[in-house]
Amino acid sequence: MNNRTLATILARVEKSLGQTTPPAMVKIGQKRDPFRILVGCLLSARTRDEVTESACARLFPQVKGPRDLLKLSSRQLEREIYPVAFYRNKAKALKSLCSDLIERFDGQVPETLEELLTLKGVGRKTANLTLILAFDGMGICVDTHVHRIANRWGYVEAATPEQTEQALRKKLPQKYWQRFNELLVGFGQTICKPMSPLCSQCPLDNYCPRIGVGKHR
Ligand code: SF4
Repeated sequence: MNNRTLATILARVEKSLGQTTPPAMVKIGQKRDPFRILVGCLLSARTRDEVTESACARLFPQVKGPRDLLKLSSRQLEREIYPVAFYRNKAKALKSLCSDLIERFDGQVPETLEELLTLKGVGRKTANLTLILAFDGMGICVDTHVHRIANRWGYVEAATPEQTEQALRKKLPQKYWQRFNELLVGFGQTICKPMSPLCSQCPLDNYCPRIGVGKHR
């Protein structure tokens, strides 16, 4: 796929999203608050957008930073974030993350990918998304949607999200890095779904080789 085809594809993806509600993390990121974004990313793993948003809406009025979060008991924190997936584990992880932020970064969220990746419980997806949304940094956030769709297009050929990120870093023009996740998440939730994608309604029908796609509609 050359860059002109890629540009056409991404323009069509954007058009297909129309007035679709943006992903939860884009909404949470609108305030550009690094702590909220980092916590929101961790809460959002394997959790529906509306559940993440309501957990954040309960949590953030009382928690403005890591010291506030550590003042909550584990039981209180679990109650605030319930029913996000694995809420007990996530409550523990959030406490651990906040202690780490205080001990090593004076309670501030660090601004580089390398430092973000040293935080307890922070993986590449969260680090990249925090870098992009909080600091306008150059990251590529590869979640399950980006990994799946980039491989279905044949734009990359990678077995894991980490490999997809590395492949994208080599070939995706930088002007698309920051928005790639937002576009593909929305597209993956509405059209190029994990199971049985809606190929008959897809604006990329003529461009997509549907690599690895079995049943589709
Ligand atoms: S044609 Fe099907 S597999 Fe390809 S992008 Fe569209 S929905 Fe996804």
